[in-house]
Amino acid sequence: SAKAAGSNQWSFFKQQMTERAAVRLRTEASLHDALKNNEFLLYFQPKFDLNTNQVVGCEALIRWQKDGRLISPMSFIPVAEETGIIIPIGRWVIEQSCKVIREWQRKYNYAIPIAVNVASQQFADASLVPDIKQLAIRYQIRPELLEIEITETSLMNDVEQAITKLEQLKSAGFGIAVDDFGTGYSSLSYLRHLPITTMKIDRAFVSDLPEDSAIASTILMLGRQLDLTIVAEGIENIQQQEWLKENQCEIGQGFYFSQPLPIEEFEEKYIACNTAKIMHV
Ligand code: C2E
Ligand code: MG
Ligand code: MG
Ligand code: MG
Repeated sequence: SAKAAGSNQWSFFKQQMTERAAVRLRTEASLHDALKNNEFLLYFQPKFDLNTNQVVGCEALIRWQKDGRLISPMSFIPVAEETGIIIPIGRWVIEQSCKVIREWQRKYNYAIPIAVNVASQQFADASLVPDIKQLAIRYQIRPELLEIEITETSLMNDVEQAITKLEQLKSAGFGIAVDDFGTGYSSLSYLRHLPITTMKIDRAFVSDLPEDSAIASTILMLGRQLDLTIVAEGIENIQQQEWLKENQCEIGQGFYFSQPLPIEEFEEKYIACNTAKIMHV
């Protein structure tokens, strides 16, 4: 009967929910262990000045080394966000990045800015701004060397709150980038009021280049009007790189230049060779 079918569907649904909850609980427990046992690490992807081909910064991207395998952030960051454990994980990312900047300065008398991704819930947390300021002081790093990446969607959750926090971060000297720009349907009228320094064009729009350039052109125009630095994400080939350069995009990041690299490799390729330079210190 229909009633029996309905009841079967319900118990199937309930069973699915229970399984999902169990998986979530297991993942949450192992994320706690991962933090305790130091199983996270950061990879670094360089950002290039498209005119000079110089490395001008990098993005720190988290990985989870679990039973000899590297797990992508896409499979654990969403769970970490749902359960709240993103806050200590995110703090670890920021502290680790401060340590790396400090270490490069000590070893090479040179450092480039590191961008860290801040999750929605982490951005909403009251301890974020004081934590970042305190870490920058503890590791004696200039705030310009740390850039906070926040997705457009996170900023939209509570615009008033976002403006207040961004103002605190910006006036302390930290860089602020809107990540995945173009995917969040933000209204242009309030974008003007956000105290940001950088806009990252989402790779969805870069991958359409050069054939389909309407959205990339619009974002570049907007960024210029608001006087922001524009970074294109996900550049995978020379055609995309050339289009962006011709259209006055200043900075690029993507597999065409480099994959995200383990720290030793990144350091050897992009930092160690710059010992002679004293800029950025
Ligand atoms: P995102 O912040 O937009 O980072 C860019 C992602 O695009 C990275 O993936 C990077 O490896 C990838 N990518 C870079 N260049 C190319 C390219 O040319 N082609 C393609 N197809 N992909 C490219 P990854 O490392 O897997 O990170 C995925 C997302 O996970 C990040 O997107 C970010 O939202 C999140 N994430 C990574 N690390 C952290 C973290 O420490 N904290 C938080 N909250 N989120 C993080
Ligand atoms: Mg990012
Ligand atoms: Mg992005
Ligand atoms: Mg993304």
